[in-house]
Amino acid sequence: MTPPILEIADFLAEPVEAANFPKTILRFRNDRAASEIGLSTLSDDDWLRHFGRFEPLPGNLPQPLALRYHGHQFRVYNPDIGDGRGFLYAQLQDQAGRWLDLGTKGSGQTPYSRFGDGRLTLKGGVREILATEMLEALGVNTSRTFSLIETGEELHRGDEPSPTRSAVMVRMSHGHIRIGSFQRLAYLRLEDELRRLTDYALRAYFNASSGDPVELVRRVVEGTSRLAASYMAAGFVHGVLNSDNINVTSESFDYGPWRFAPTFDPNFTAAYFDHAGLYAFGRQAEAIQWDVVQLAGALRTLADVDALIAELDRFPELYRRALVERFLWRLGVQPKGIDEDLRLVAAIEQGLIASQLPIDHFFFDWAGGSLRGDDAPYRDEAFADFRTRVSGYRAARTLDHPYWQGEPCSMHIEEVEAIWAPIAERDDWSALYAKVERIRGMGEALAS
Ligand code: AMP
Ligand code: MG
Repeated sequence: MTPPILEIADFLAEPVEAANFPKTILRFRNDRAASEIGLSTLSDDDWLRHFGRFEPLPGNLPQPLALRYHGHQFRVYNPDIGDGRGFLYAQLQDQAGRWLDLGTKGSGQTPYSRFGDGRLTLKGGVREILATEMLEALGVNTSRTFSLIETGEELHRGDEPSPTRSAVMVRMSHGHIRIGSFQRLAYLRLEDELRRLTDYALRAYFNASSGDPVELVRRVVEGTSRLAASYMAAGFVHGVLNSDNINVTSESFDYGPWRFAPTFDPNFTAAYFDHAGLYAFGRQAEAIQWDVVQLAGALRTLADVDALIAELDRFPELYRRALVERFLWRLGVQPKGIDEDLRLVAAIEQGLIASQLPIDHFFFDWAGGSLRGDDAPYRDEAFADFRTRVSGYRAARTLDHPYWQGEPCSMHIEEVEAIWAPIAERDDWSALYAKVERIRGMGEALAS
């Protein structure tokens, strides 16, 4: 089938060419993701031709497309952005007929590169593998890292020891249509195009038959409130929740300065340049909701404003419900009813905030709702309410997966650095591959 983006490429994208890299060395291929779109049988040589040198996939996009968008960055409107170091390479359908996009990061300069080199550091690519694998295992709706290929250039960056190695990454997700893609069309008063983009997003990614902007906002409110709740249960801080980093399919993506919060600290901030803590751990729902308001604002000329506001108003309640659902899922207990479940979640938060115990240890120790192992950290008064409440809950999963016999799998900054160090020092990738295996094991254990 013809990639659907071609219907709207005239106003949404710019045909571009990939950089000609001095080397292409395969570092990571995600065959689990590739099998969903029929690409897991490619030979490594073919993989390099397509995802390192970007020869078109047969019958797919004849040329990569850099997407145009604007966005609010730290709440300041920026009309000068767009795919500055990436492009849309191909679109493929999954078994359910939903479109999956392969987009790049670090594939070269585009008309939107401004002062940037269009490149990605190898460390940035390794970090994105770790973030996406971890989030996927923790049940977060995320883009997947499809491929990472080292490209043999020397890059200069202010936040990494330089020169540093280069890479090109491919990510797989249901679309790369951002809130900022709509903001750009509204800013330029391109109403007809705004209508066409709305229609496209609903058809290609939601299988919807209508092109109703209110329907799109409804879907985005539902998806993003859930995403925000998933971040909290995962203990994840994205770091840069700008409106150009929010996909209308609500898949989390574009991982730069991300961190997993070591403890449940609402003020914990991931990006060193986020001085005001705008995107701190505990402010992520507020930040994402603010972005969704910008989407509704962009669509206001096409829809009944009261109907848009009614959809936006659902965010807090949907967020609360999703928070309960995600916390209970991670803990592995069956829901009892929203009011009681909300109190259980509040008790977990209270315990975690007061004790500052590591989040992943807590969920590991209490998997299935009963304490396994040492009771010492939980004797504290801060956990009293939690202990009383959780005793009335039934387990939602069995714990016979070997994962539950070992240590909790976490992903704090020290470990990220410890995985990177042998790659930087002696090109030893074994720690990365071992970690990906271990994360996938945790994912299996949580899914069972
Ligand atoms: P981000 O903060 O990664 O979402 O990026 C914001 C904008 O800056 C996007 O338009 C990116 O394409 C662009 N950008 C980031 N890094 C580079 C780079 N090294 N070269 C060119 N453009 C970049
Ligand atoms: Mg971005």
